[in-house]
Amino acid sequence: MKPQDFDKTVSPISVAHFSQYKLMNLLLQRLEKLGFSVCSPSEIEGSIWDRKILMGHECISIHPTNEGLKVGTSYLKEGKMEEREFHCSILVGSDGARSTVRKLVDIDMKGERNLQRLVSVHFLSKDLGQYLLHERPGMLFFIFNPDAIGVLVAHDLDQGEFVLQIPYYSPQQKIEDFSFKDTFNLIQVCEQIILKLVGWKLVDVQVLDIKPWVMHAEVAEKYVSHNNRVILVGDAAHRFPPAGGFGMNTGIQDAHNLAWKISSMLSGIASPSIIQTYEMERRPIAIYNTSLSVENFRAAMSVPAALGLDPAIANSVHRVINSSLCSIFPPSLQKFALEGIFSIGRAQLSELILNENNPLGSLRLSRLKKIFDEGKSLQLQFPAEDLGFCYKEGALVAECGEKRWESEASSVHKRDLRPYIPCAKPGCRLPHMLINALKESSAKASFSTLDLISGDKIEFLLIIAPIKGSYRLARASMMVAKEFDVPLKVCIIWPKGSSDKNVNSSEKELEPWKNFIDVEEAVKPTSKSWWELCQMSSNEVILVRPDEHIAWRTESNGIADDLLELKRVFSLMLGHGKFLL
Ligand SMILES: Cc1cc2nc3c(=O)[nH]c(=O)nc-3n(C[C@H](O)[C@H](O)[C@H](O)COP(=O)(O)OP(=O)(O)OC[C@H]3O[C@@H](n4cnc5c(N)ncnc54)[C@H](O)[C@@H]3O)c2cc1C
Repeated sequence: MKPQDFDKTVSPISVAHFSQYKLMNLLLQRLEKLGFSVCSPSEIEGSIWDRKILMGHECISIHPTNEGLKVGTSYLKEGKMEEREFHCSILVGSDGARSTVRKLVDIDMKGERNLQRLVSVHFLSKDLGQYLLHERPGMLFFIFNPDAIGVLVAHDLDQGEFVLQIPYYSPQQKIEDFSFKDTFNLIQVCEQIILKLVGWKLVDVQVLDIKPWVMHAEVAEKYVSHNNRVILVGDAAHRFPPAGGFGMNTGIQDAHNLAWKISSMLSGIASPSIIQTYEMERRPIAIYNTSLSVENFRAAMSVPAALGLDPAIANSVHRVINSSLCSIFPPSLQKFALEGIFSIGRAQLSELILNENNPLGSLRLSRLKKIFDEGKSLQLQFPAEDLGFCYKEGALVAECGEKRWESEASSVHKRDLRPYIPCAKPGCRLPHMLINALKESSAKASFSTLDLISGDKIEFLLIIAPIKGSYRLARASMMVAKEFDVPLKVCIIWPKGSSDKNVNSSEKELEPWKNFIDVEEAVKPTSKSWWELCQMSSNEVILVRPDEHIAWRTESNGIADDLLELKRVFSLMLGHGKFLL
């Protein structure tokens, strides 16, 4: 990461590398603060499941009923498998890449399968952490040497926490070859591989976990089924190579997109059809991120390919050994042949070959240099995609003639590093700018425009400038929101330096509505104003959804009938066909 990744210009939060299991614990703590309780199967009695997180329950069946769904689960209690049924109105399948929910409702995946098989080894070694911290600080280490190949992810150099990814080829190589389930000796297999990769014996390796996984690049054909009652999110809906770190980030975006829609539907604000907009909005993003991750994965593979270790060749060799031709040989011989061929391949990494005096080695080294000089290997930062993802259609009012963001993006090479350019078009995420609340204690720190959105309740936000036409539209919005039972807050953004002026006009202009906030831009004199940042004129207003995406944007003085237009907007956003004009 570069220093500018931490400068918080485009977001109030900087980029972070954070282990998933630690995030999981934080999420559980947060849920407990919100009144949920985490229960193990033995702690669960009775039939009140409200606000309970039932650990150890595995979904095994789904049946539609007149009222909703009947979901069967199994769990282990005192050494015995038991079953329990739940009745629910909505089931969100967030059960990962091998989703049972997805299979039970017969949703297929589309894309490329089995790109690569790997084993993940989670281990601790302060010895290695300290060495890297002082000699070669970094996050990802791609290690190619004649004895072994692997990718080392440094989760915490200080604590010496790592995850090692090792390619493996089944059925000749078996996960038991790496696993420490049965004997102490098998842990040593991993330790041996770590030793080969690191190049010297670490005194304190502690293997915590070993897990196999398969890399796919697939997206579910649909995200929603059973009359909007069964919904897929996260890896259950899409699974792609980890290159670029899109997997969980895309899943979190799914959940953020879906949460307010489910809540609005259950509270009666929105029609059940709003759930369809989840698929309309999120599936194209998953398709885009899938191809971006595949492209990035292939770029990462250009490094071993330049060294003469093309993974495509390794996979072809493996296919031949798996073919019927070779299946006549005993498995042990197949394994021996595979490992023999791979060790011949890895021998190309020896200093004997890979040196400037050897014509082949020198050619490979210069190819490698070119890849790195041109930034053509793995890319880790994708600001345009991480923050600039935008919905073309869904729970929003698209601008006429608006180009699809994908087509704009596809005009350039997908992996080209594109900066995030804040944009306030419908479908885009609300841009971040630091602001100060007016009329509040002057000691109050600046906060982000993103913090205007309430994190814990459904509330829409209308952002306006302090001008007559926009106040008029804000009053009409409040009136229509009340009619639709939709909580709405108005934010009036004043230019920097307005705290000295009389900003009481908002109260008078918005009478009788009280849910508004006056803020001023907390920008440096050289920075852009809010309206310049959003590429809007100050008589434009934007309506923001509870997930921080913009639903509607208009010129406040360009509407013939404010109330009629706002009814159209709220109807489209909430899926109320009956109000459509
Ligand atoms: C090596 C590697 C590196 C990665 N790096 C990144 C990265 O840098 N950034 C990033 O954003 N993403 C990354 N990812 C992807 C990320 O890990 C996944 O996208 C993410 O874990 C998906 O979250 P999820 O909650 O959808 O599924 P999971 O994390 O798989 O969670 C699914 C949960 O459902 C449970 N479950 C399974 N079946 C059932 C059932 N029948 N009933 C009930 N529960 C069930 C499981 O026990 C599990 O707890 C990486 C993935 C890999 C393999």
